[in-house]
Amino acid sequence: METFIKRKKTRPVFLGNVQIGGNAPVAVQSMTCTDTRDIRSTVRQIKQLEDAGCEIVRVAVPDDEAAAALSDIKKQITIPLIADIHFNYRLAIEAIRSGVDGIRINPGNISKEKMLKIAESAKSRGTVIRIGINAGSLEKDLLKKYGGPTAAAMVESALRSLAFLKKAGCGAIKLSVKSSDVTTMVEAYRELSSKSDYPLHLGVTEAGSIVNAAIKSSIGMGILLNEGIGDTIRVSVTGDPVSEIRVAYGILRAMDIRKVGPDIISCPTCGRCEIDLFKLTREVEAKLTGMKEHLKIALMGCVVNGPGEAAEADIGIAGGRGYGLLFKKGKIIRKIKEQEFMATLLDEIYSMIAERKET
Ligand code: SF4
Repeated sequence: METFIKRKKTRPVFLGNVQIGGNAPVAVQSMTCTDTRDIRSTVRQIKQLEDAGCEIVRVAVPDDEAAAALSDIKKQITIPLIADIHFNYRLAIEAIRSGVDGIRINPGNISKEKMLKIAESAKSRGTVIRIGINAGSLEKDLLKKYGGPTAAAMVESALRSLAFLKKAGCGAIKLSVKSSDVTTMVEAYRELSSKSDYPLHLGVTEAGSIVNAAIKSSIGMGILLNEGIGDTIRVSVTGDPVSEIRVAYGILRAMDIRKVGPDIISCPTCGRCEIDLFKLTREVEAKLTGMKEHLKIALMGCVVNGPGEAAEADIGIAGGRGYGLLFKKGKIIRKIKEQEFMATLLDEIYSMIAERKET
């Protein structure tokens, strides 16, 4: 199935070798939850994120010590690094000097005078700036004008800062207008997209733990992506950031925007199921975390509906009593014992990937 979504064309910016906007694929990013001053833990978490498929990573820079850690962190990772700055313009300049690929600033807590200094520094190094508007920290005059953190207030804040940075000579800019309220976020991004062609970083902020975050992000980003809006996404989860990557790719795969990683189709089971499908699904998911190749893998509880319902899957197992049928594209290949499900499935998956690479 081909996607029928027509992406809105935006100006490309480059974070290291990752293009955002233009015709580039929607990039997946995340943010560490470690103390940035603890270089070892931060690098370890970034490596875990990289392994899971994260393409851009952001770290918080709350003080001088965190800013000083950036160059060491940058040297030890391969994906672009973004410094997240609030309040203190000196930290932004320090981060830019340390060689980060991008910075995220919040105009709600940095004055225009200081923003100008950041702009000059970013311009001289070619550092990308994200104007990261957050409903929770809008400029006071806009809150007064709009009576609260409305979508229109966020859009005006973003456009105002964009005009300011452009006047200061910066061109490598991304925008975001995040809210924890899904409808406000959707309205804000729609409006912003209609008024600007700068690339958009999508996100529902403070989305909660995994289930809530997945629901809110899927709805908010899903609506926007379906309208062709959005160049990079960050799912925000209270918990292990690796789960953010899994949800983000899940959204992009479900919408047929990016064919990356395993798409596991599994039935909910019912009274006909005679294998431990929950365990099998958990194990397959765990084993294939971070796999880049796109493959549809069906794990079905029974042979009654299994192969037929998952006919579009590249490979699958439909359970019987202590055994299962291995099938490919709806065609049964052979019968296997339940104890051999995992090993057989993995063997088949890896050889299918190897075959693809050869052709
Ligand atoms: S595939 Fe079989 S076990 Fe799974 S829900 Fe359908 S009928 Fe039930």
